[in-house]
Amino acid sequence: MPKKKSNIHEYEYKAEMKQLLHLIVHSLYTHPEVFLRELISNASDSLNKVRFRMLTDNAVVDPDEELNIILTLDSKKHTFSIEDTGIGMTEQDLNEEIGTVASSGTMEYLEKLKAEGKTLEGDLIGQFGVGFYSVFMVTDEVTIETRHADADSKAYCWKSTGQGTYTIEEIKREKRGTKISFKLKKEYHDFAEEWRVKNIVDKYSTFVEFPIFIGKERLSRVGAIWQKPKDQVTEEQRNEFYKYIANDTNPPLGHLHLSMEGKVNFKAMIFFPSKAPLHFLRERDEKTLNLYADKIFIQDDAKELLPEYLRFVKGVVDTEDLPLNVSREVTQSSPAMQKINQVIVSKILGLLRDWAKKDRGKYDRFYKEFGQYLKIGLNMDFTNREKLIELFRFETTKSEADQFISLKEYVDRMDSEQKFIYYLAGEDRSSVLKNPNLEYFKKNDIEVLLLSDPYDVMTVPAIHEYDKKALQSIEKADLDIAGSEDEGVEALNEDLSKPLIEVFKETLGDKVEDVIESKRLVNSACTLVTGKDAMDAQMERMMKMMDEKYASQKKILEINTKHPLIKNLARVNLGDSKDPVLRSSILQLFDGALLIHGNLDTPADFVERMTELMTKATD
Ligand code: ADP
Repeated sequence: MPKKKSNIHEYEYKAEMKQLLHLIVHSLYTHPEVFLRELISNASDSLNKVRFRMLTDNAVVDPDEELNIILTLDSKKHTFSIEDTGIGMTEQDLNEEIGTVASSGTMEYLEKLKAEGKTLEGDLIGQFGVGFYSVFMVTDEVTIETRHADADSKAYCWKSTGQGTYTIEEIKREKRGTKISFKLKKEYHDFAEEWRVKNIVDKYSTFVEFPIFIGKERLSRVGAIWQKPKDQVTEEQRNEFYKYIANDTNPPLGHLHLSMEGKVNFKAMIFFPSKAPLHFLRERDEKTLNLYADKIFIQDDAKELLPEYLRFVKGVVDTEDLPLNVSREVTQSSPAMQKINQVIVSKILGLLRDWAKKDRGKYDRFYKEFGQYLKIGLNMDFTNREKLIELFRFETTKSEADQFISLKEYVDRMDSEQKFIYYLAGEDRSSVLKNPNLEYFKKNDIEVLLLSDPYDVMTVPAIHEYDKKALQSIEKADLDIAGSEDEGVEALNEDLSKPLIEVFKETLGDKVEDVIESKRLVNSACTLVTGKDAMDAQMERMMKMMDEKYASQKKILEINTKHPLIKNLARVNLGDSKDPVLRSSILQLFDGALLIHGNLDTPADFVERMTELMTKATD
């Protein structure tokens, strides 16, 4: 309950908020100047909100007031204030928006940073919805005076030292908007110097759309650069704009500057970041394209503009094709939005294709960061299926680690006799390369795609065929291969192999679907393959990860009848099909194959049997 002294209410911050304030003030920040960027950015958001509101509502406070931000500095008294004519805050806003941590993940993240001895870089703070509190780096006490734009709103004064409590008092204030003021700490007196503040505004806030004043002087700004013709925008301006909207410190990997007229009219500036966000496809705060209707900001994450799989780009789309009283519902169902979406998707995919053709290094860098996004696109965007398939890249048995080729390159260099595009999935490159199922292909110099990204397991089978060649997992039992003509190594004849296969079947019982003679093995004694309609081993591992109770499908065991061990076992079998060493060896071979495929659930039995066999062998 708030304590009441006359008409001033005192509130206590929640415990997590106290911790957060402590972290901010004492350990995490590296660039205190970002407080200014955060305050300007909040002011700009509030101006956007009121401008949007005025599109449909004239009954706001001060409807004719200029939309601007005014900074007032006093270098003698060391005071600083920032005032906007934006939407303002209600009492509830002050309690709920200012008084609490926006996201529950924020605290955990900050604690982790601190525990790791890292600092919170200035550019991260805004992303966590705690930007306002960065002001406590440079001051010991903050005052907010604010009045909401609602015609019948009251005005309030909020005060806090950031030490656990804040107060709210009703005040007299006619003007709409918010004024935030404070006295600077001793070591930050320079933030009341004009030259210093101008520099910071130049650095972080030149793209703010509203005029910023220091006293009476209006600071220069770049304005809506996406509205300008391409040749009037320098690379530096573009990069700075990107950094501003994406909250990134690195320049973008590339961009599109579009000006479309005709069936659909819009201007856009779209950027490809150089790094993927920390959390792949996590909803949280992935701001993508800002939507403007004829230069008026509508929303900062217009989901209808992009399919989910392309939501890694950042930028601005500005269209005259939306009705002026736009609301989110209108944008969602607007045919204009759909058309813009289609154009943007095709431009993005077109640019990627160009990179892939003309600038491989750049494309590879892009693909490393965002390849997974494209992969999930395959099962979502049927219109652009073919284009996406051309953009996929894979490691192969013939490429170096970390070098990726396209399906086109694979097909171009494969033997004219080869009917399929072969692939093999596994946990990582080095373990896939050791898979016995590759032996035939290595020996016969046939290239195999190595799929070690979990997303490949979902996408590659869905490609079905490329250039009329079916994609084929080499783990499947019904591989159409000739078998290797081996120099001088005889396979067991049927009289020996048939009864041996019978003993294998009898010993393994319902652990396997079948036991057959292998055509594909060269060095290994046996391997596991899957039936025609069954899942790959890698796919199964994913299923198990998602569902603990998932029961593995039975596999087919292939045995290499040219292998000395298999020949030895055939001989033992001839003498006594009940020989315990024969039985143990069969179980051991089977478990070993499971182990290689990453699906052995009983490692203890495996080791125990191995110890027994070795004891006998060394007896
Ligand atoms: P964020 O801006 O990331 O949400 P902040 O801590 O910077 O986090 O601000 C919290 C909230 O306080 C804002 O979302 C907004 O609702 C409100 N707010 C802050 N500054 C202003 C302002 N100048 N005018 C109106 N509302 C504001």
